[in-house]
Amino acid sequence: MTDTPTYEIRIRGLVQGVGFRPFVYRLATRKGLTGTVENGVDGVRIVVRMNGTVSMEQFLKDLRREAPPAARIWQVEYRPVAGERIPDDAFRILPSRADAPGITQVSPDIAVCEECLRDMKEQPHRRDYPFVNCTNCGPRFTIITDLPYDRVHTTMAEFEMCPQCRSEYEDVEDRRFHAQPVACRRCGPHYTLWQGDERTDDLPEILERSAGLLSAGGILAVKGMGGYFLACDATDEEAVARLRRAKKREGKPFAVLFRDLAAVKAFARVSGEEEAELTGWRRPIVLLEARGRKTAPSVSMGFPTVGAMLPYMPFHYLLFEKLDLQALVLTSGNLSDEPIVIDDDEALRRLAPVTDGVLTYNRRIHNRVDDSVVHFVRGHRRALRRSRGFAPAPVPLPFSVDNILATGAELVNTFCLGREDQAIMSQHIGDLKNYETWAFFTESVERLTRLFRVEPSLVACDLHPDYLSTRYARETGLPLVQVQHHHAHVAAVMAEHGITEPVIGVPFDGTGLGDDGHIWGGEFMVCDLEEYRRYSHLEYVPMPGGDKAVLQPWRMALSYLYKLYGERMRDLRLPVVEKARQEKTLEPVITMIRQGINSPLTSGAGRLFDAVAALTGICPVSTFHAEAPMRLEAAVTKSEKGTYPWEQEAGTIRMMPALRRIVRDLEEQVSPGVIAARFHNTLAGMITDVTVQIREETGLEKVVLSGGTFQNRILLAATEEQLERKGFEVLRPLEFPVNDGGIALGQLAVAGARRLK
Ligand code: ZN
Ligand code: ZN
Ligand code: FE
Repeated sequence: MTDTPTYEIRIRGLVQGVGFRPFVYRLATRKGLTGTVENGVDGVRIVVRMNGTVSMEQFLKDLRREAPPAARIWQVEYRPVAGERIPDDAFRILPSRADAPGITQVSPDIAVCEECLRDMKEQPHRRDYPFVNCTNCGPRFTIITDLPYDRVHTTMAEFEMCPQCRSEYEDVEDRRFHAQPVACRRCGPHYTLWQGDERTDDLPEILERSAGLLSAGGILAVKGMGGYFLACDATDEEAVARLRRAKKREGKPFAVLFRDLAAVKAFARVSGEEEAELTGWRRPIVLLEARGRKTAPSVSMGFPTVGAMLPYMPFHYLLFEKLDLQALVLTSGNLSDEPIVIDDDEALRRLAPVTDGVLTYNRRIHNRVDDSVVHFVRGHRRALRRSRGFAPAPVPLPFSVDNILATGAELVNTFCLGREDQAIMSQHIGDLKNYETWAFFTESVERLTRLFRVEPSLVACDLHPDYLSTRYARETGLPLVQVQHHHAHVAAVMAEHGITEPVIGVPFDGTGLGDDGHIWGGEFMVCDLEEYRRYSHLEYVPMPGGDKAVLQPWRMALSYLYKLYGERMRDLRLPVVEKARQEKTLEPVITMIRQGINSPLTSGAGRLFDAVAALTGICPVSTFHAEAPMRLEAAVTKSEKGTYPWEQEAGTIRMMPALRRIVRDLEEQVSPGVIAARFHNTLAGMITDVTVQIREETGLEKVVLSGGTFQNRILLAATEEQLERKGFEVLRPLEFPVNDGGIALGQLAVAGARRLK
């Protein structure tokens, strides 16, 4: 016994539904170790008898290093045990007890793996079979209906395994051991192409027709992993413009599915980190800098970026084999702001009329999941939309958040559930003001609370009483914790890092209700998870027209000009003033501002960006959320290093001196790109200077930059660099977006921290 000690190893993390037990089995067997592995309530439990040739250190090292791609290990604990019954001569996987109510892990969906792609060419029963998958890859969250994760609790339940699939499923040596969606040509789902009333179930025929249709400039609705998508040739302007009209989407760029990495590189600059992300198991959309070949103008809409993605479903690979194109637009199959369509009948009813064919398959999507979107700033991944491949992986928090529901923001909604010390963030939901999206929200809250066995006893929400997410929270009748929007922005990043001590928070965004009733969004805070103190903020300016000003940046330009010049602003020879005069909106807006009619006060950085984007003529009117700041960023002349002045008094940061200089630059015909650059440089410098002041007062060294404004790569990179040069530790979000898609995590963390007191 002493020379062959037995250990119990407990592994916490995301280790279920990701092929972890078969992996442990193979690792232990390779090392000649005996023992068992099983799923436990909060992870995986291994009992292993060491054999003298392998050290525990080495075993654990290999366990971490070789773990399946989608697995995430948070914590490994081991201790010697005696009296465990383990096999003498083998390593065994113990079956999950189907009744174990505590097992609540759900893996995100995983892109098809290399081995499965090989099987698709080599295994006769899976030759060209577009639903090939294994324990290392395939759908997970999108098909799961209940826990524990077992075939009967997925939308594969209705497909009975053929004897061959069953034997693979039951063979512990096989890569498909307990791969719940296992399938082959004989027993699994299949694709169907609808063109009008004509239906085709024959795969070669489907591929032929789909490829022909796309090559000829047609639009195809394609059922993907988490919903329907619309596809067309990304280099065919006529096709893309038609798709844009069909989708009723005006200005926002489309994502592009490329044939392979070489094709991506023909259209965009790709760094090492970006390449790893593009080819990794999550396969999100990665925003890249456009270079070389060009997609059709209606894809990028004037932005110098490409939202690139590589094939992640077996079908994508089969399609590109038949297709002579390098790049397809692949955009969510929804009209306008609605959630992505997942229902087959709905797809036929609503997408067929605006496309040339609907390509579907007969495996149901249970949980709707859009594509995730990320970009890289200073070599680090930053999420813009966290959905497929990420959700619903949990994050560990440093304290219990058990049975808390956080309902999130309104415009870019996600919600968050607490289970023990884990935060489980929903997939991207969207704009709750849209009725269908609202239905998606309420359905998903119900589904995920049931799936993860969460019984909310406390609800966290925004301070804004009119957010639909706040109303939902109120209507539960449960105890409520209202969390200030920008506190939640900072807390989200703290939560991800497991930090509870005070930090300097710099939440910059468009709008969020402040505790003084005004609209905040250019804030400097000192906060921990429980409380915050507003240290200083951008000067308040009126938003003439309220929400209208968000869509019409020219209103913010007039507001800033009025603040600067008062009634004399009428004399300025600026295009934005001239245009308003011509359109007879100048006087009404001035009256609104002067008399404070429908002109809430805002300190939002987003509104300041709007004003500058409109003043410079870069974007006087927005066609989608945050277009003006995005266009202002895109216009920046990178070589320009100049800055503008700003001033500060008693907790208020006044950017008026900068605005005055911008007006002068405009009068002197300085290019919009140079003005945009100087504006960005000014903000980065201002944030650094104010943060240094706060450090001098508080001694705090950790800084959180959060809020939608920091999706701006130029501003973020410049600010982070300057802060780091001053010796600050800037906490980066690791997986959650800095926009309102991260708010729910912050709300959950604040509610949990306050409950502890
Ligand atoms: Zn696989
Ligand atoms: Zn089969
Ligand atoms: Fe926000």
